[in-house]
Amino acid sequence: MSTMGTPAELHAEGIHVVVGGRSLVRDVSLRIAPGEVVALVGPNGAGKSTLLRTFYRAQRPTSGRVLLDGADIWRMTGRQLARRLAAVLQEAPAEFELTVYDVVAMGRSPYKRAFQGDDADDRDIVMSALESLDVNHLAQAPFDRLSGGEKQRVLIARALAQRTGTMVLDEPTNHLDLRHQFDALRLVRRLGVTAVVALHDLNLAAAFCDRICVLNAGRVVAAGSPAKVLTPALLAEVYQVDADVTVHPRTGIPQVSVLPGGRFEGDGSTST
Ligand code: ADP
Ligand code: MG
Repeated sequence: MSTMGTPAELHAEGIHVVVGGRSLVRDVSLRIAPGEVVALVGPNGAGKSTLLRTFYRAQRPTSGRVLLDGADIWRMTGRQLARRLAAVLQEAPAEFELTVYDVVAMGRSPYKRAFQGDDADDRDIVMSALESLDVNHLAQAPFDRLSGGEKQRVLIARALAQRTGTMVLDEPTNHLDLRHQFDALRLVRRLGVTAVVALHDLNLAAAFCDRICVLNAGRVVAAGSPAKVLTPALLAEVYQVDADVTVHPRTGIPQVSVLPGGRFEGDGSTST
C-alpha cells in the first residue's frame, strides 16, 4: 500500500552531544526497528531536538554513531541520506516568494540533477502529498502567508514527497488543530515508515506510537510501550506534575490526565 521507500532500521549508538562544554545529549542509545514509530518526549530543554538533529546530520555527535540499516549516516552523501531519510523540523523556514507547491516540490530534489525540472511523476507525487495533508487547495498560495498550522502541514507534505523509508519529525503537531494533529500522526503510522517523532502531547504519543522514549536532561530515563512508560511516578519525576494514568475504556490506550492540583487549593473558591 505504501508508496514510500523501504523502512530502515534507525540505530543511535551511544550518542553524546557536547556544545560549549555543556552535555546536551548524554549516552543515548536507541534502536528503532523498520516500520516502528517511536515518540521522543521530555520537558523543554531535555535534548529532544538536539538528538533528532544528529539523525539528519544537522548536528555531528561528539561521540557515538547514527546507523541506517547498519550504515553510518556520516559516511553517506547528502543526496544518499536525503533519499532514505526525511526530516520535518520545528522551525518553518522563510521561503520568500515560493508557493506551497514549490515548497513541497523541494522534496523531489534528492532525485534530480541541478536545474532539472519536475516531470509528470514528480507532479503526481507532489499533488498526492498536498492532498494527504489537506493543503491541496493552498497549492498556489505563497508559503509565507500561511498560518503556523498550515505551514506545518506543508512541511510534512514536503517530507512525504521525498518518498523516504524513514522520517524524523520534531513536534510536527505543533500549531495543528485537533483534527489535523490526529490526521498527521495517523498518516505517519499508515505510511509504514520508520519514524521518530518528538511530541509534547503524551496522549497522542500513546495513541500513535509503538514505543515512547523519555528524555530528561539529555539522558533516556525510560523507554518502552506507552503502558509501561507512562506511570504517575515517572510523570512526577520528569515533569513534576501530579497525574493519573487510566486506560481508555473504548480504545484500551493509556490516558494521562494531569491534575490541576495547587491551582484550586486553598483559594477559598471551592465550588460545590
Ligand atoms: P528540546 O528539544 O528537548 O526542548 P533542545 O535539544 O532544543 O531541547 O535543547 C537542549 C538544551 O540544549 C537546551 O538547554 C538548549 O538551550 C541547549 N542548546 C541547544 N542548542 C544549543 C547550542 N547550539 N548551543 C548551546 N546550547 C544549545
Ligand atoms: Mg525541541
